[in-house]
Amino acid sequence: MRRTRAGVTVDVVVIGGGILGLATADALQARLPGASIVVLEKEDVVATHQTGRNSGVIHAGLYYAPGSLKAELATRGGARMVEFCANYGVAHDRCGKLVVATSNDEVPRLTALAERARANGVTITDLTAEEAHEYEPHVAAIAAFHVAATGRADFAGVAAALARQVSAAGGEIRTGVRAGRATSTATGWRIETDGLPLNARFLVGCAGLHADRVARAAGQRPDARILPFRGEYLDVTGPSADLVRGLVYPVPDPRFPFLGVHLTRGLDDHVHAGPNAVLAMAREGYRWSNTSIRDLLGAVAWPGTTRLIGRYWRPGLEELLRSLSRRRFVSAARRLIPDLDRADLRRAPAGVRAQAVDRRGSLLDDFALVDGDRSLHVLNAPSPAATASLEIGALIADQVAESFTGPASSIG
Ligand SMILES: Cc1cc2nc3c(=O)[nH]c(=O)nc-3n(C[C@H](O)[C@H](O)[C@H](O)COP(=O)(O)OP(=O)(O)OC[C@H]3O[C@@H](n4cnc5c(N)ncnc54)[C@H](O)[C@@H]3O)c2cc1C
Repeated sequence: MRRTRAGVTVDVVVIGGGILGLATADALQARLPGASIVVLEKEDVVATHQTGRNSGVIHAGLYYAPGSLKAELATRGGARMVEFCANYGVAHDRCGKLVVATSNDEVPRLTALAERARANGVTITDLTAEEAHEYEPHVAAIAAFHVAATGRADFAGVAAALARQVSAAGGEIRTGVRAGRATSTATGWRIETDGLPLNARFLVGCAGLHADRVARAAGQRPDARILPFRGEYLDVTGPSADLVRGLVYPVPDPRFPFLGVHLTRGLDDHVHAGPNAVLAMAREGYRWSNTSIRDLLGAVAWPGTTRLIGRYWRPGLEELLRSLSRRRFVSAARRLIPDLDRADLRRAPAGVRAQAVDRRGSLLDDFALVDGDRSLHVLNAPSPAATASLEIGALIADQVAESFTGPASSIG
């Protein structure tokens, strides 16, 4: 950290104290020993948003287009995540999961998914309906496959462990500090905050639901906007919870990046059904009552929003009805486990996905980074970004380290 007449200058400022911002800061400390790194997080605690509100599944990497960043970073990242959790005492396991076709028309899609999984190097075991019942006795499967590499992790616990590690290595995590406009200077960036401004030689944006705004506040013009897709869950309680042993997933609709309502027994032994995917009325819209005029106007002004709604109005309407009617939501879960009793399923806290949408109304499928002058912004990092976070952080740190022309020892 340097003090000049312009104030304090640090080597790198990372905006966002979710799992990606913290993994990036941690990887930067390894690449640039001695560099001064500050993470700015607007909430009072790290991992308040997506990182602390998800399904907690370590994905094996079966869904993603071969050769995509998602495929590459999720398969490598899953293994690395397991190792990290074991080393740092974070709750995790490799419980495996079942993917099931519940009707004849889903069988070709299940077969296509199995091929994709193999193309991504994921080991799967094809199962008959009887074999599927050995894993999940109450599942309504016509055909299925099992993925042994899928696991579960406490991603908020991972973020907390990364934060401790970053601080122990001399980094600074400033919670309760919102980053505002960032202006390019002769030596890097001047970042306005709701406290004192901060100067940095390099700026990294890992702002999740606000990723596009943070990039725009630093002069970038990303050709996509974040739309918030709320993922609602139901708690499965009582005798119905005993009907689910582990992780049971449907065959996803290949048109969407969301996996469809699934059933997960968490590390805490609680069973959840969900998440659905419904457009939220605010970027941090965890309930229907959370609305933001600013967020709504921003979404309406983006041409991609109306095109997206025009293109996907039918599945969007189904998701909306499922959000408004517990009966419909339960029906989706019952396609997997028909004996679930509606009386045992209760509303649970939701999460909101940050999903980038381009101006043509297409959902960005892959992870997306936006490169700028002495800056790099994560624009699209939905699921499986928690699984892949350590690999994404390493990728960003490599790019930042390259941009510092001198050897690592000249940093600081
Ligand atoms: C319902 C749901 C289920 C999911 N399930 C899984 C799963 O099972 N497995 C998996 O791998 N992934 C899953 N994901 C995806 C995963 O949770 C996210 O991809 C991951 O957490 C993204 O991390 P992040 O750090 O980018 O975002 P976040 O955790 O949202 O962190 C961004 C941070 O930036 C901060 N911030 C924003 N703007 C500013 C600013 N101006 N100044 C300072 N701070 C700012 C925010 O407060 C926030 O803390 C799921 C996501 C959801 C919503």
